[in-house]
Amino acid sequence: MNEYKKHPNEKNCNSVHWGYKGATGPDNWKTLCPDFADCGGKAQSPVNISTKETLNSENLQAIHLNYGKTKVNIVNNGHSVQFNVDAGNTANLNGKTYTLLQFHYHSPSEHTIDGKYFPLEVHFVHRRSDKDFAVIGVMFVEGKENPLFKAYLDKFPETPGEFQTDNNIDLSDLLPENKSYYFYKGSLTTPPCSEIVNWHVLTTPLEASKEQMEKFSKILNYNNRPVMPLNGRKIKKFDQ
Ligand SMILES: [Zn+2]
Repeated sequence: MNEYKKHPNEKNCNSVHWGYKGATGPDNWKTLCPDFADCGGKAQSPVNISTKETLNSENLQAIHLNYGKTKVNIVNNGHSVQFNVDAGNTANLNGKTYTLLQFHYHSPSEHTIDGKYFPLEVHFVHRRSDKDFAVIGVMFVEGKENPLFKAYLDKFPETPGEFQTDNNIDLSDLLPENKSYYFYKGSLTTPPCSEIVNWHVLTTPLEASKEQMEKFSKILNYNNRPVMPLNGRKIKKFDQ
């Protein structure tokens, strides 16, 4: 139906090139294609999380993940390294059930906490409908070797391409045990920047070794959007 409303010369935004630097960088995403207009919106992500300004909320609920084992397809899509997962992994988030679509990484982190960047941030992207997404974001700090990276980092495609794993990965192993989180309403952090995301940024980070982080950061090559203004939005906190 929407096709009828589009101007015949309107570009298909899926084929529009965007990146993290220069003329096609974040400052210009909103003008690269009509459907990217949300990138100039008022409820954008990522944001800085100022911990002393977060509000404890009784309306938020604990995160319940119904993640199982899955084979994954590891894709370098030119913007990130993304793990596409099988259907059937769900998350119950504040009373609603979302399906996990994929997870992917940014380096350095996109969200900042009290102005501080982390070397890496992973986004578990869930969908309930076209207008209702939920992302669980987790920061990384330098520490122990990360088992997922140990198994697959050598096989991450360094240029656009993909790699299919043979083994089943237990997705529930990929998040920290404590799932206390910061919550706010924001957007996809990449074009089309749709303002449809319930953000859950965990307060507990994951660990990876310095070598792993350096190697992965090189592949990701600064794929983080700068923090966007809150424009009056409040960040809430749920303590597990
Ligand atoms: Zn992301």
